Amino acid sequence: MTSCIFCKIVEGTIPGEKVYEDDHVIAFMDIMPVTKGHVLLIPKTHRENVYELTEEEAANLFKAAPKIANALKEEFQPSGMNLLQNNGSFAGQSVYHFHMHLIPRYDKTDGLKVEFNTKVEQFPMDVVSELATNISRRLQE
Ligand code: AMP
Ligand code: ZN
Repeated sequence: MTSCIFCKIVEGTIPGEKVYEDDHVIAFMDIMPVTKGHVLLIPKTHRENVYELTEEEAANLFKAAPKIANALKEEFQPSGMNLLQNNGSFAGQSVYHFHMHLIPRYDKTDGLKVEFNTKVEQFPMDVVSELATNISRRLQE
């Protein structure tokens, strides 16, 4: 896709600080890193989001993810690592070419805050169980 900024990085028409490349994926430094070593992993083929990925494309992405995560771990010795992937503007997606953020974490005051605001009362186990039934029915279709 000619208008897509990440496709342009794949094609080499705009610069990217590439850290990994194989036949199917590339990984490069985020231009506005939230922590030291913030990397983006993308498929070379333009796919907007997780819903559009083929099984093979997803497998190729996840095949590369541990390699990159381990390189970041060895290089920076972070305290933890978040893999984050946004789909849709409501979920925080701003570039519409699938990308997985690999974000090394250092301390509570680094650039990322991930918080689960669990509403236990809204999802008692019988509700959760019904949700599971409905989801798995779709997966068997
Ligand atoms: P998201 O909000 O999940 O869509 O994340 C998009 C990410 O892409 C942000 O973290 C941006 O800083 C990053 N980004 C945007 N343009 C570039 C670029 N040209 N090179 C590297 N990273 C970029
Ligand atoms: Zn693209």
